[in-house]
Amino acid sequence: MFEWPDSSKGTTAYITHPACFGHNMGEGHPESPERLVAIKNRLIEENIFDSLQHITPEPATNEQIALVHPLHYIEYLESVSPHVGTFRVDTDTAMNSGTVLAMRYAAGAVIKAVDMVMNGEAPNAFCAIRPPGHHAELEKPMGFCFINNAGIGAMHAIQKYGLKRILIVDFDVHHGNGTEDVFKNDERIMLLSTFEHPFFPYSGDKPLGNNPNIVNIPLPAGTCGLEYREVVVEKWLPAIERFNPELIIIGAGFDAHREDDMGNFGLIESDYTWITQHLLRQAQLYCQGRLISVLEGGYDPDPLARSVAAHLKVLADADE
Ligand SMILES: [Zn+2]
Repeated sequence: MFEWPDSSKGTTAYITHPACFGHNMGEGHPESPERLVAIKNRLIEENIFDSLQHITPEPATNEQIALVHPLHYIEYLESVSPHVGTFRVDTDTAMNSGTVLAMRYAAGAVIKAVDMVMNGEAPNAFCAIRPPGHHAELEKPMGFCFINNAGIGAMHAIQKYGLKRILIVDFDVHHGNGTEDVFKNDERIMLLSTFEHPFFPYSGDKPLGNNPNIVNIPLPAGTCGLEYREVVVEKWLPAIERFNPELIIIGAGFDAHREDDMGNFGLIESDYTWITQHLLRQAQLYCQGRLISVLEGGYDPDPLARSVAAHLKVLADADE
């Protein structure tokens, strides 16, 4: 049975940085700074905010980002970063003058989370960051993402702490194509991605060859909590047992919520509670509770904030 390590571990780390508000893709864009404001306000309203450790990260260095992306890709993003206005890198993804710094702090938050969890400074962590990362491929920004925050954290854990098996569970409504692109053929990382299909980015539905660590679970539009929970029990848990992870990173996108127009799933807050409880239990079973949650999607600020609150209540055990 799981036993908490030393009592010095403190509470769940909530890692964010003001620079994450500085990335703005233009008026009316759904991936807006307002998302982080809504999350913070909701956590205060539900009396969760004060129970968390509030942590400010350092920005990720080129060396750290280059654990995943080639240096020339980082230099490309810096070279097209506009001083004023926005520069479009994809049909729906744009940079402003604050994007590069936001992206560095977003990845830096996950690196800080890894350090805290690995060093016993927090039992688990939530990174309230933007831009998100799971659509960012090796050398390609897309789908509101520039660099793969969760992937950079995973590689930091491998490089600095010598971990050999890291699980990334992506419950965003969209396929984690970027994470798949980065880690296909890397047996140190297992990606579990459960997503709506057919739907953006229209990937993840075909066999990937000899890649047992990429577990894609496409589900049809209309999938609700009951079906989703069945997938968790029947697909996620056996894969996690087989992999026996040393660290679990959640690609925590909340756009599978029923009220989120960016997806067509029917999850509600209690589903996120249930999913989080199951992932926390897996972390306790296999890796001393080491769990890091990284914000991905979730575009309607109100259900996003309610869902994050439900998620964090489980992580912080703040129900009492
Ligand atoms: Zn998404």
